[in-house]
Amino acid sequence: MFDAEINRALTAAVDLLNTAEGQHSAKPIPDDLTSIEALKKFVAARDSSLGWTASGADRDEVDRVRDLRRSVAAIWTAEEGEAPVEKLNSLLEGVGTKVVPTSEGSGDESAYRAVPIPVSSKPADVMTASIANALQFLVVQGETGRMRTCKGADCDAAIVDLTRNRSKLFCDFGNCANRAHVRAYRARQAALRESAKRGGSEAAAKKSAAAGEAAAEEKSGRSKPSSAEKAAELEEPTSVSSVAAKEFRDRMRDDLMEKRDKKDKKSKKKGKKKSKK
Ligand SMILES: [Zn+2]
Repeated sequence: MFDAEINRALTAAVDLLNTAEGQHSAKPIPDDLTSIEALKKFVAARDSSLGWTASGADRDEVDRVRDLRRSVAAIWTAEEGEAPVEKLNSLLEGVGTKVVPTSEGSGDESAYRAVPIPVSSKPADVMTASIANALQFLVVQGETGRMRTCKGADCDAAIVDLTRNRSKLFCDFGNCANRAHVRAYRARQAALRESAKRGGSEAAAKKSAAAGEAAAEEKSGRSKPSSAEKAAELEEPTSVSSVAAKEFRDRMRDDLMEKRDKKDKKSKKKGKKKSKK
């Protein structure tokens, strides 16, 4: 995306950041820069064109590289729009610039390029000059948005987006992109199921409501005669048995009314007695 020197330095900066303790693609990662040996191994594994060196690496250099890693992390994870100028300027302190002929790259690149001059040839200073120069380039170009953290779940790997269309979202440590796609697919499926379920229950609710209405109609209509209908049938019995039943009911009712009357008279007397007290 940018010139080869910047691209290399940004890639190496990401590599440095990713030596820190964290999670890469849901896998816990221990700090990988805790000893002189580890620093030597880290530098040896980088692009030799960077000119990074581990010669003369001691415990002090390890600590200085760890400090550099911390500063770069603070710059890398700064909120977008908030250019971490102070931190960057402190990294750039003492770093010079020289112009050298371009020895590589495509024909449309300039014949010369600017390269940083480190404060000293010590490992931490060389790395600092290289990374600080690349970061100042991003800040000056308004491209700090390319300093990213992997979007994968359970992943805090640093990534740098060097694509033309700013499309890099995931690290290359594991299967972050694939996991994210699977998650997105499942989320879509769940959303579809949920909406189908909601639609289905609405339909079911409508259906049961309709059934309830029908049942109510049935109750008030055919199967359940109204009280007026019942009374009419009782007063005008049609079958032999119901005639007999009516006669029986009438007799019982008369008996009952009789008893009630007697009772009423008794209770009235009692009531009078009570009220006298
Ligand atoms: Zn990731």
